[in-house]
Amino acid sequence: MNKEDIKCSHCGNIIPPDSNFCNKCGKELLPQERIPEKLGFSYKYFIISSLIVFLAMIITSFVAAILLGIYDSNMDIIPENFIIVSSVGPAAGILISTIAITFFIKYIKIKEALYGAFFTIFLLKCGDFIIINYITFESILVALLYCLIAIFGVYAGNFFKKQFRFG
Ligand SMILES: [Zn+2]
Repeated sequence: MNKEDIKCSHCGNIIPPDSNFCNKCGKELLPQERIPEKLGFSYKYFIISSLIVFLAMIITSFVAAILLGIYDSNMDIIPENFIIVSSVGPAAGILISTIAITFFIKYIKIKEALYGAFFTIFLLKCGDFIIINYITFESILVALLYCLIAIFGVYAGNFFKKQFRFG
């Protein structure tokens, strides 16, 4: 949802700011009928964002694991590679997905994309906590860093959306 988008005063449909007719009910929109739309939080977009971020984190971690390899020839874990796969992998997923979500999903708001990413990061860290059964200072720092990456991603995506508006 872009700030400038308007709502049809006849049927409530959301329309791009430059259109003179509603693309749903077909009625002409007089200037005084152009009601700026203040939309609330969309749980649909929040859930979509959460899922996309989650999938992206899995994919980038998986790709990092394949590219780097986390086992040596004795099938022992290589610590440096494991750190990159388990930290940098998800970070890359968060960055790519948050930029993509806010850029490509036209009506999504920063809030929905961001909360979706935060929610996924929170779940991921809860998962870590369940597996290792304690919280480390580093894991909290990593979670905060992930949140910063998500903030950067949604604002970057939104910036690109404004620069290269399509549709
Ligand atoms: Zn309408």
